[in-house]
Amino acid sequence: MIRLLLSLTFLASLSVNAFASEAPERSSLSFDQLLKSISSAYEAPPAPVVEERSSTAARTLENDPRLWISVAASTKEERTRLLEMGLSIEAISANSVSGIVHRDSLPAFQTKSVSVLASIPLAQFASSSLKDFPTQDAAYHNYQEMYGRLKALESANPDIASLFSIGRTTEGREIWTLRINSSAKGTKPSSKPGAVFQGAHHAREHLSVEVPLLFAVWLLENRDNAEVRKYIDTLDIYIQPMINPDGAEFDISTGKYQWWRKTRSPQASGNFGADLNRNYDSWWCQAGASNSPWADTYCGPSAFSEPESRAVRDFVKARPNLKTMISYHTYAELILYPWGGKYEDIPNQDDLRVFRTLAEGMARLTGYTAQKSSDLYAATGDSCDWAYAEAGIFAFTIELSPAGGGWGGGGTFYPGAGVIDKTVRDNVQAALYLLRNTSDPRRAI
Ligand SMILES: [Zn+2]
Repeated sequence: MIRLLLSLTFLASLSVNAFASEAPERSSLSFDQLLKSISSAYEAPPAPVVEERSSTAARTLENDPRLWISVAASTKEERTRLLEMGLSIEAISANSVSGIVHRDSLPAFQTKSVSVLASIPLAQFASSSLKDFPTQDAAYHNYQEMYGRLKALESANPDIASLFSIGRTTEGREIWTLRINSSAKGTKPSSKPGAVFQGAHHAREHLSVEVPLLFAVWLLENRDNAEVRKYIDTLDIYIQPMINPDGAEFDISTGKYQWWRKTRSPQASGNFGADLNRNYDSWWCQAGASNSPWADTYCGPSAFSEPESRAVRDFVKARPNLKTMISYHTYAELILYPWGGKYEDIPNQDDLRVFRTLAEGMARLTGYTAQKSSDLYAATGDSCDWAYAEAGIFAFTIELSPAGGGWGGGGTFYPGAGVIDKTVRDNVQAALYLLRNTSDPRRAI
């Protein structure tokens, strides 16, 4: 219901006042209560659709020039080429992939003899198969709700938690970071080994916000548990649930999901946004990224062209104590490790063993599959490749639920709030496992 109210007064929802009337009651819930409230929100009957917003939203999505298509592809090299042609690959089966492409990218498909197996307007695919914000998905945190929860955690745990921004987005939103450390607050340096948990590089992947955010709730609620206490005392933990808040808010701005992936920076020819996970300086805009500003996989006009990726870059470079990192995405149920931008293994064999051991450890706790990122396809400009190459951080991409595959494959960015409980609980265990290995990742092998 929080979402519904906010969506009905969307502009007002950006103000503190609209949020303040709703936030306290939910902010005070415990981890279990929160997950319970999320489940019951999911089971509640849909709220009535408000006619005016609905038609506005439908008009927006119906005008969207993108398509959901399925094309023949059976190798990682073919999949990489499709990314370069502007297709954002979302579902993979043995002989085909499905995903989103802008209609302006389609001439390249004909030129390169790509076999398009099926194609429908994105709006039609969306309305035929998926839940619409806000009714069933009110339990997901929007930007203000996320901020409210982080602020409440800081207020309830002033001795060990501090909230600060690592920078501002194109539209001026702060990129909030909750730090958990018993001896250093805010941006004060620490020599303790550091771990970073990030969500929502990609706007429409809302579940990737819930996992790090609720991990923060869980950690602070269990702060007196002996193991958790040890991490709070000996590690420097950073939680950044929404790296791309402009995109995430745009995705829900009309009351209907916009299937938005990128940032919201103005680009050539009236286009908006770059793919943040193609924008880091790791073989920037080579394999698996598009030069076309309309494409979902657009790498941006230059490496670090986006204020969001620059904020992460500066955050990492200022903290040589960082050892481990997870960037959460959806969907596929995979634990991915570098390289993402090259098919080869990373050259350091000891590090490769560490990556594999930690990925497999997290895979055991989640039921996901551990693999080298480029075994799916090559994608350059990825944050984890950059964090490892630049700073030696053991950085993982976790593709959360659902598993997906095939034309729709049961996979979606919008799986409803019903998946939050299990996904969060499983990933709390995986994140704890990573903390267990953060003081000295090389001891994992
Ligand atoms: Zn993603």
